[in-house]
Amino acid sequence: LRAWIRRSVKTLKISDGQAILPYDERAKRVLTSLLIEHEVFGDGVKLPLSWFKVLLACLKPFSDQMLEGDDIFSAVEKLSGIPQRDKAGSFIGARMGRPEKAAQREMSPPVNVLFPIAEAGGSSRDLMAAAREGRKVAVELAARKCGRCNTITWRERCQECGLPTTLIGRCAECGLELEYSEEATCPRCGGKVSYSRKFVVNVGEELYRALKRLSEQAPSRLKGVKGLNSVAKIPELLEKGVLRAKYGLYIYKDGTIRFDSTNAPLTHFTPRQIGVSVEKLRELGYTHDVHGRRLESPDQVLELKPQDIVIPRKAAEHLVKVSKFIDDLLVKLAGMEPFYRMKSIEDVVGKLIVALSPHTYAGVVGRVIGFTDALACFAHPIFHAAKRRDCDGDEDSIMLLLDPLINFSRLYLPGRVGGRMDTPLLITVVIDPGEVDEQAHNLDVLDRIPLEFYRLAERGAHISKLSGKIPTIKTLLREGKPLRIGYTHPQSSLAAHPVESSYKRYGSMLEKILGQLKLAEKIASVDEHFVAEKMVETHLLSDILGNMRAFFLQGFRCKRCGARYRRPPLTNSCVSCGGEVTQTVFRGAVEKYVELVEKVLLKKIKSRYLAERINLALENIMNVFEAERKEQSSLEEFLGG
Ligand SMILES: [Zn+2]
Ligand SMILES: [Zn+2]
Ligand SMILES: [Zn+2]
Repeated sequence: LRAWIRRSVKTLKISDGQAILPYDERAKRVLTSLLIEHEVFGDGVKLPLSWFKVLLACLKPFSDQMLEGDDIFSAVEKLSGIPQRDKAGSFIGARMGRPEKAAQREMSPPVNVLFPIAEAGGSSRDLMAAAREGRKVAVELAARKCGRCNTITWRERCQECGLPTTLIGRCAECGLELEYSEEATCPRCGGKVSYSRKFVVNVGEELYRALKRLSEQAPSRLKGVKGLNSVAKIPELLEKGVLRAKYGLYIYKDGTIRFDSTNAPLTHFTPRQIGVSVEKLRELGYTHDVHGRRLESPDQVLELKPQDIVIPRKAAEHLVKVSKFIDDLLVKLAGMEPFYRMKSIEDVVGKLIVALSPHTYAGVVGRVIGFTDALACFAHPIFHAAKRRDCDGDEDSIMLLLDPLINFSRLYLPGRVGGRMDTPLLITVVIDPGEVDEQAHNLDVLDRIPLEFYRLAERGAHISKLSGKIPTIKTLLREGKPLRIGYTHPQSSLAAHPVESSYKRYGSMLEKILGQLKLAEKIASVDEHFVAEKMVETHLLSDILGNMRAFFLQGFRCKRCGARYRRPPLTNSCVSCGGEVTQTVFRGAVEKYVELVEKVLLKKIKSRYLAERINLALENIMNVFEAERKEQSSLEEFLGG
């Protein structure tokens, strides 16, 4: 490069802040690997004057001194007298954990209302279908008693006298009648107490009653459940289901509507980044920026308050629908005024939500202050920690505050162990930063990272060398100072491209794997052979072998009634209903990656041991399925088509 610059000096042209030098194959390659911005045109190479000056200063092409030293840094240092540092001291690798998510939570199959219809309505438990067929279903429901006429019903009110009914339990051993309590054991004999019995329900009649009460059109579909899993088996009002179906909303096992999204930490933002006006943010209490100046421009940097969150636009659209459902519920069922009156996603700003992590039962109240195009929910590290999360990558759910307050009931929760997980049994209203998980306390709070940090980092020093030098949230809490987090790294957008990872965009596993391989081939620092070996070793081979094992040990299932068999009955029809009995694991499952491994990955694998293992597995599969091998479209056809 030095020689090139020296040679080129006679023809060097400078125009428009660009230095133009004659093209040279070797020099061009060096520029590329040094990551120096340049442009090749015709027989010349153009590079910005600022870069050119740096090259002159560092390489001193016109001095007679030779470029020599133990390594390139010390050589350039000796030559130029300017200290040289490695571009990056250490590298941190990352790999796919799980793809990001932002979507309404649906159970499988999805449920509009916790109302049991057993087998009626088909596999999607559609109450509309059951009603059209005029089905009466016998289902297990809570037994309730009218205080005046002693009628036993599952309804909230007695149909004879219109009075509210009370839930009654009956001891299976001694027949004692008693009121509902969490412990389902009899105080007299210790026997098991049951709160439900079989009732025959006319689905059509019930639906008609609900629609009339709401004066609503019948939804095209209304999805119930097969049976209730709760101890008391109290159903939800069908009316709730009708209104949810109207807005395309589905519920979780506890009767609440959830939106799941991936957590991302955030401490600072600008109004422009979250798509909200300066005026609105001032209203929400963001009056001054990080430098203490009055908030006037959409590009001023603001420090996020610990319970404020920025949600995906998709989540905001979802919350608008939930708010309409809640308003309908208040107006049509409770005879009250609407509460939210939302029209567009802008109306979501300033509203309260409850955020909840799976495996916990304590929700945290948060306030929506803006939107992001990313499929992630941005919140303060303290907020994520309050949900008992370590701040990133996990998936939590949000609910519009009134939804759990109105529609959640612990009476809906499944009686089995773990039934209470992921439900808002408790709600934290104000977070005490001192009470959240310690991990969040280690966040640094300074405005400028001291030079000493970089010096120590360069030497790879242990973190303890810096203890006490970098203040953290823990320091602030210990000293009783207000929670204030410094702003160190400016950025223009919260969601730079890609907004959605290609892992999500690619549909099938085949596409994902081919995409990954293509990428590995392109990136100079990635060894594609290693990538292929890792993929086969950690996922594909165990998948193929596991599915093969499952194929041979599989059970069988009746297509009509779902009865399970360890081996197929000799008649090949179901003993209880006469339906067709079918396999539960199909050869497609075993073979789905075979072609991929065989035709694409095997070529790239260098480890002989691994290649042998793959060949053995493939041979095994061939031997088993060869006899009945049917025409399958090849990988090439699949890719071409
Ligand atoms: Zn009555
Ligand atoms: Zn008893
Ligand atoms: Zn059957």
